[in-house]
Amino acid sequence: MLSATLERALNDQMNSEIYSAHLYLSMAAYFESENLKGFAHWMKVQHQEEISHAMRIFDYVNDRSGHVVAQAIDQPPSEFESTQSVMESALAHERQVTAMIEELYREAQAQKDYATHVLLEWFIEEQVEEEKSVIEIIESLKLIGNDGTGLLILDGRLAERAADEAA
Ligand code: MG
Repeated sequence: MLSATLERALNDQMNSEIYSAHLYLSMAAYFESENLKGFAHWMKVQHQEEISHAMRIFDYVNDRSGHVVAQAIDQPPSEFESTQSVMESALAHERQVTAMIEELYREAQAQKDYATHVLLEWFIEEQVEEEKSVIEIIESLKLIGNDGTGLLILDGRLAERAADEAA
């Protein structure tokens, strides 16, 4: 049985994963409007991934006989300045998520809830991947600078991201 504290924290984490999905959907819309189809596609895959993260927690809370509460989702920003700033925001967001998961991990540790530990270890590894993939794009954008051709090449590369590339 999950403790009340962990149940609440896992529900908050599920909410945060759905917010992430929502944020990436908003970013996908920005890239669509900028005609950067590859970036938009990458963000749509990201959106799907975040939904799958939320569902992982949904299933886990149910498996532990906990109560899932579908909470209200905050509205993400809908105006963005540039490709670079969108990706910087995505990185800042992922770092926040990492901090949340680490906090949750400490809570599970304090309560000696080993099953929740195992669940969170998956998320901790996943966050390393999340941050890495965004950092790689930011680094490419820095190299590209104001070169439109370079941006189109990167856009083409991001268009190839497979839906199941990461969990
Ligand atoms: Mg996530």
